[in-house]
Amino acid sequence: GEAGPKQYAKIGRHSVLATTLNAFQDCPLIEGIQVVIHEDDTDLYHAALSRIEKLEPAVIGGATRQSSVLSGLAAIPEATHVLIHDAARPFVRTDLIETICTALQTNAAVVPAVAVTDSLRRVEDGKSSAVSRQGLFSVQTPQGFRSADIQDAHDRAEKVGRNDFTDDASLAEWAGLDVTLVSGDPANMKLTTPADMASASASKVPDVRVGHGYDTHQLVAGDGVILCGVTIPHNRRLDGHSDADVGLHALTDALLATIGAGDIGDHFPPTDPQWRGAKSDQFLAHAAELVRGRGGTITHMDVTLLCESPKIGPHRQAMREMMAKIVGIDVDRVSVKATTNERVGFIGREEGIVALATATVVLP
Ligand code: MG
Repeated sequence: GEAGPKQYAKIGRHSVLATTLNAFQDCPLIEGIQVVIHEDDTDLYHAALSRIEKLEPAVIGGATRQSSVLSGLAAIPEATHVLIHDAARPFVRTDLIETICTALQTNAAVVPAVAVTDSLRRVEDGKSSAVSRQGLFSVQTPQGFRSADIQDAHDRAEKVGRNDFTDDASLAEWAGLDVTLVSGDPANMKLTTPADMASASASKVPDVRVGHGYDTHQLVAGDGVILCGVTIPHNRRLDGHSDADVGLHALTDALLATIGAGDIGDHFPPTDPQWRGAKSDQFLAHAAELVRGRGGTITHMDVTLLCESPKIGPHRQAMREMMAKIVGIDVDRVSVKATTNERVGFIGREEGIVALATATVVLP
């Protein structure tokens, strides 16, 4: 990963900090945003931000988290309420911010929390024992307070030399404020380790692959064609080694392309007699299996058929359903389109049918 403080590292196109601030910028209940930075990070800070309208000029923090919060509070004396947030929680959602602002209207201190779901053990003297997670919550930020209350709590803690609070809620509680919990968001995680950064980046830039496929087969005298897995009576048939289903062949190539796995001929050589007259659904199913073997999720498939006849419209829905079934995805993720070739060229002379396909796959 990138060196330096993680709030300035990039996840996707934006820095962690900019991603965090945008969530606050987007909340209509937030009037201003005050960032507290380390004195060495001025350049990093300016490089990390794009335009954020509600942002006040940054102030320099202190040696501890508590003294940094105090610096921030001192910079916004006009605020009546304040939400204090870890810059390294970029997945905070605007609706959570709104929930906390709303709860602050009737509560002195509002903190998002999520129930602990992992089993817990306590280690003492090298021995571990189970701890019930019943009633235990993990606390997140942003944590909301009336400005005067949290300012006063911080002042008092500073006066008595307490600087060991891990968050503002603990400090507020020490100062005698009632802390109210609201439902946090499991996705609102704090980026702590390089692995957190890697998975945050991955979640921001999904590995989306779009594969393309093309196929054509010749039309010869016959009694029907098979297109996208559907048999359609016709005065011709498609000629080929297998059932010559151009739609499924193009789509098979498109799926194989998403994982760079060559083309249909590599997997089912036309020279191999076992594929003579074979139904093409097995080619498509095999390609889908290879994609899933790579951890891929097939999110969309689209086939365009180019032919003068037969008419595709009446069979479109059956084709979508057939391809969805073969691949094992919802039919609303499958598209079939058709066009004539305006009587031009070999398609226009009904010497052959062409299929074009794309497949969209998300890899882990
Ligand atoms: Mg073919």
